[in-house]
Amino acid sequence: MPNKQVAIIGAGPAGLACAEVLSELGVYDITVYEQKPSAARKFLMAGKTGLNISHNEDLDIFISRYDHPDWLAPMIQKFHAKEIQAWMQGLAIESYVGSSGRIFPNEMKAAPLLRAWLKRLQERGVKFFYRHQVLSLQDRSLTILDLLQQQPKTIYADAIVLACGAVSWPELGSDGKWQNWLDSSVIQPFQPSNVGVLVNWSAYLQPIFGQPLKRIQAWVEDQPRQFGEMVISHYGLEGGLVYRCNRALREILRTQSSAILYLDLLPDLNQTQILQKLQQGKKQSLNTLWQKIGLDKTKIALIRDVVSKADWNDVLKMAQHIKQLAIQVQGFRPIEEAISCAGGIQLDALDENLMLKHNHLIFACGEMLDWDAPTGGYLLTACLATGRQAGIGIHQAFNATETR
Ligand SMILES: Cc1cc2nc3c(=O)[nH]c(=O)nc-3n(C[C@H](O)[C@H](O)[C@H](O)COP(=O)(O)OP(=O)(O)OC[C@H]3O[C@@H](n4cnc5c(N)ncnc54)[C@H](O)[C@@H]3O)c2cc1C
Repeated sequence: MPNKQVAIIGAGPAGLACAEVLSELGVYDITVYEQKPSAARKFLMAGKTGLNISHNEDLDIFISRYDHPDWLAPMIQKFHAKEIQAWMQGLAIESYVGSSGRIFPNEMKAAPLLRAWLKRLQERGVKFFYRHQVLSLQDRSLTILDLLQQQPKTIYADAIVLACGAVSWPELGSDGKWQNWLDSSVIQPFQPSNVGVLVNWSAYLQPIFGQPLKRIQAWVEDQPRQFGEMVISHYGLEGGLVYRCNRALREILRTQSSAILYLDLLPDLNQTQILQKLQQGKKQSLNTLWQKIGLDKTKIALIRDVVSKADWNDVLKMAQHIKQLAIQVQGFRPIEEAISCAGGIQLDALDENLMLKHNHLIFACGEMLDWDAPTGGYLLTACLATGRQAGIGIHQAFNATETR
């Protein structure tokens, strides 16, 4: 019997992870169609600032980072931090766990890993067609445009895997056009995630644009406090700590025009300690006093911008502001700039093997699915884990048909 034909759309980490699982089995003809001239451009971009591919922490905590932990758990349990490190080692890429628990390849970059990965897939017979843009999907037929020849062709596959990514950084390939191929009722509209937030600063703050707010805590409503740092930019706030508050802010901004982000500027001191220090130094100038209690120039400038001047000499109110500075967030930077996206194919439109319930033998994986996570290696882990699950799912689906 001839091998079953599997077409994978998208050579990002999810599509490649799916090809990896299937090619190991040696019984499928696997073709990857990628519209860009080369594979995994977003993955390579992720490697520019250090490829944080996973996170070494207790599995339950790891899984709790996702917005749909129960749904992702069975897939992440099969392939997370340890398995990812072992998989990289199998490709001769050594990795390390940073002090924050983040996992990086020793060389930090994505390119050596990607090169080794593609080489192994090609050796296993996976075929890659670059500059091939899938235009439409009809049952298990794909209309594909060869972007060099400008020739469309239609191919049929026994199983199809959608691994087309979401809609951020579209210049890297994930343009979201695949949304036209599916019934809109199964797609949750995309929203930016892991992205800067908008705050209306006064012109006074301009000199500190680009400066970090270090060792602070941030939180939204009754959500747990998050520790870290963020950067003040001309449009608002950027950085890992504000990204971790994105999901809670998004919930509020769904129904309201603004949301409050709270900052604790001196988390190592409690409010009583701050109050005492402020009372003791009342005779000094405000800047001197505030610096003495541990506020640096950036934090002082932020306080002067956000807190009403009427409160500056009120030590009780200032102690409260320092512990709970209320920043009014107006929205998010555009989705094109976001590191990732929330939204995508609804999880209840998929079975446990990531096959679309209403499209037999069409599977989907990676960031095009409606899950969300903060940065820290969780995004790539879920892309790899869901890509692998789609591969496992295809094999199970064919096995089930043959044993019937
Ligand atoms: C700047 C930046 C830094 C990041 N850093 C990290 C990090 O350190 N750690 C982390 O975990 N995550 C990081 N991420 C997120 C991570 O890179 C993505 O979550 C991941 O790449 C998504 O993988 P994917 O395979 O689902 O989609 P993608 O990587 O977007 O790949 C989808 C592929 O499908 C192709 N495609 C789409 N439509 C078609 C079509 N019609 N025909 C043919 N091909 C098509 C695209 O060209 C693309 O190559 C970062 C993202 C960015 C933008």
